[in-house]
Amino acid sequence: MSAFFCDLHIHSCLSPCAEEEMMPGNIAGVAKLNGLDIAALTDHNTCGNCASFFAACENYGVVPVAGMELTTSEDVHLVCLFCTLSDATAFSEAVDHRRIRIKNKPEIFGRQLLIDLDDEPCGEEEHLLINATTLSLDEAAQLCKDHRGIAIPAHIDREANGLLSTLGGMPEKPDFPTIEVKDAASLVKLAQEHPILHAKRAIVSSDAHRLWEIAEPGYALNLPCDKHAGAQEVRDQLIDYLSGQRGGHI
Ligand SMILES: [Zn+2]
Ligand SMILES: [Zn+2]
Repeated sequence: MSAFFCDLHIHSCLSPCAEEEMMPGNIAGVAKLNGLDIAALTDHNTCGNCASFFAACENYGVVPVAGMELTTSEDVHLVCLFCTLSDATAFSEAVDHRRIRIKNKPEIFGRQLLIDLDDEPCGEEEHLLINATTLSLDEAAQLCKDHRGIAIPAHIDREANGLLSTLGGMPEKPDFPTIEVKDAASLVKLAQEHPILHAKRAIVSSDAHRLWEIAEPGYALNLPCDKHAGAQEVRDQLIDYLSGQRGGHI
């Protein structure tokens, strides 16, 4: 077992609400400086910058995870994380068919910058990424599973787009083995109000939209592999853990 410091919810400049400084190279560099072992890129409703994020993380020696923060038709945010970049890319293509296309207004919502493998801007996503998709919570969880991913209700300690505040409670189905909070201190109270949470794992993520918001080590997961294991092995163990295959309940 080794402790891996993680931040599994970070937005790049492809998310309109994130700062343009959130280039994949900058994110990977700050993750390294902050002492993170694993970092996940989770833009709204797209994995479009994940390939460049992988390239950047390889340069800095951080284990990258390809992900997405999906908005369901109920307006719930789910962080979806994948074993491989190709799984994430296929998932992103499937989600793309379920997006509702509204033209982005960069002056209001912010630009949505696509970044190439050399960490240079190479285009802009034309349609807004932050609106709800037509995927229900059930469909989203299943689609994620079909792509060997894990769907995690995002920032359940937050009012806006948190599953608890949006739906009024945690559903039994679909089963979410892991939940995410922004503030670890919120967990005790949340678990008192929603006892179903006792059967779940919790992760703490930054939901960074600015470089200074990326987590500094403080939150670590114990995974059954060597600290210097290959990136794919670490990702496999991570997804395995988050899928409920290992211990560590709230
Ligand atoms: Zn969110
Ligand atoms: Zn987010």
